[in-house]
Amino acid sequence: MTSSPHALADRRHWVFDLDGTLTVAVHDFAAIRRALGIRDDEDILVHIAALPVHEADAKRAWLLEHERGLAQASRPAAGAVALVRTLAARGCRLGILTRNLRELALLSLEAIGLADCFDPGDVLGREDALPKPDPAGLCLLAGRWAVEPARLTMVGDYAYDLACARAAGAQAVLVNLPGNRWPDLADWHFADCRSLAAALGAMAG
Ligand SMILES: [Mg+2]
Repeated sequence: MTSSPHALADRRHWVFDLDGTLTVAVHDFAAIRRALGIRDDEDILVHIAALPVHEADAKRAWLLEHERGLAQASRPAAGAVALVRTLAARGCRLGILTRNLRELALLSLEAIGLADCFDPGDVLGREDALPKPDPAGLCLLAGRWAVEPARLTMVGDYAYDLACARAAGAQAVLVNLPGNRWPDLADWHFADCRSLAAALGAMAG
């Protein structure tokens, strides 16, 4: 389903996925597995959780340092900065819902020059709510903003982002993929944040 861009332009409560949506995705999970001695078919966090405590702590610390470095080196996705700045200038409420740690999400926002557009309390990481596709994070933000979850628009680059929006009764926008791989879940699809901003009229004036 594709809805009218005019309806989209009127929306005032926007929640963004971070990695791969506002930033260019850079995680190299194969390299992380090599560095930590984890097999290709093993889940990294599950593997670490099963280790003796001091070994698990050491690997978690390495992973956090590694991810902190990636966050500090974040680069903005095409059109992401202009899109967020335009919505902020219009007085929209803006939030982040990520499966990353909140601390790292804040570092990434700083690195791409958008930290001032978000109230830190509206940046939710994996320690703040059950992870997407669970709708808990969106419901938490709707509560903070005192609106129904249906008023929220979730922007993301993966099925979890869209499914999370659907489960909350919010609207879902898919970006940064050439085609719409999840037409049943996405209310809108744009090639990138630049196209989305253009549809909102953000590039005018
Ligand atoms: Mg993503």
